[in-house]
Amino acid sequence: MTKTQTWIAKEAKYCAANYHPLPVVLKQGKEEWLWDIEGKRYVDMMAAYSAVSLGHCHPRLLKVLMEQAQLLNVVSRAFHTDKLLPFLEKICQLSGMEMALPMNTGVEAVETAIKAARRWGYEKKGISDEKAQILVAKNNFHGRTITAVSFSSRKSYKQHFGPFTPGFVEIPFGDTEALKQAITPQTCAFLVEPIQGEAGIIFPPKGWLKACQQICNQHQILFILDEIQTGLARTGKMFAFEHENVISDGLILGKALGGGILPVSLFLTRKEVMSVFTPGSHGSTFGGNALAARLGLEVLTLIEEESLVERSRQLGDYFLQALKQIQHPLIKEVRGKGLFIGVEVQGAARKVCEKLMELGVLTKETHDTVIRFAPPLTIQKDSLDFVLGQFEKALIALS
Ligand SMILES: *Cc1c(COP(=O)(O)O)cnc(C)c1O
Repeated sequence: MTKTQTWIAKEAKYCAANYHPLPVVLKQGKEEWLWDIEGKRYVDMMAAYSAVSLGHCHPRLLKVLMEQAQLLNVVSRAFHTDKLLPFLEKICQLSGMEMALPMNTGVEAVETAIKAARRWGYEKKGISDEKAQILVAKNNFHGRTITAVSFSSRKSYKQHFGPFTPGFVEIPFGDTEALKQAITPQTCAFLVEPIQGEAGIIFPPKGWLKACQQICNQHQILFILDEIQTGLARTGKMFAFEHENVISDGLILGKALGGGILPVSLFLTRKEVMSVFTPGSHGSTFGGNALAARLGLEVLTLIEEESLVERSRQLGDYFLQALKQIQHPLIKEVRGKGLFIGVEVQGAARKVCEKLMELGVLTKETHDTVIRFAPPLTIQKDSLDFVLGQFEKALIALS
């Protein structure tokens, strides 16, 4: 057995098997590069599902992390700290939202959005108690808590985890008529990803999000976008909603917000909605801690200073066009915006990813049909060219 095989076999003794990782054991990362315990180097084309949008171990992030860690980390929001305000002020300016509520993981911010929407429904819209409904899209992904999987379409996410949280109604993603039909006087919100990430990087029809915004406005329904994966320059705009000039009532951020170092998430909305939270109604011991807030502010600063929106758009266009040039019977479709790209290869995605790993490129399949290419936005063009070459080799090797 190789060192890697031995390690993986031992880990399986202690670690739950709720993931099916590629057989590689990583020990170091820098920018878009990763190294395994055998000393082999890879290009990271996954960026931890967009959490590592700024690249691994960004020196500026490490610097503020060390500085802040020596000053103050966690006091819980039982007290104020001097780091939360600058972070929240900056993200409100960038997103056009009025207020933000800090949490840690993405799904916690999703849960926060759901709580806000329900309370707003009861207290501002006048929905009768316990009756509020939230519309969601088919094949959504909003995280793994009981509530978030309650409205998942995937059996594997739900099986034997019930009973589930009621109050969610599913509509097909991209279907304007279905949205209109599903609305009742009890509907308080429509929660949706502007581009479905885990479903396989799925784009709605052009104009759909704008239509959703208008329908939600007409019916006094909160239009809440989960941009945990698509936000913060991933798709070639700071937020995916900018592609259609959509104005939402709520926005959920996470993943890249923590610079690939800490979990940092936010639910953002208007003052009128956020005001439903009163002391004692919601909280998180670690949410909004000084270390996370300092890091989050630096992430936002770096996205601007390193022109990552531009990089994502330009490199994404380049990589997408180059992928589309590749002719191979396995490839069914190539789609993407910015550096958020999916290649549909019916049933062969795992095999391609395993081959790519051998060839020094790390990425992960989604549901065995889609290979995702979503590298750090700081990636060098040379690295993308290397990936293109290796991808062609992988396809040839498999045919
Ligand atoms: C990853 C993700 C989540 C969940 O985030 P966690 O940090 O894993 O809890 C929620 N929504 C979307 C769209 C995601 O991509």
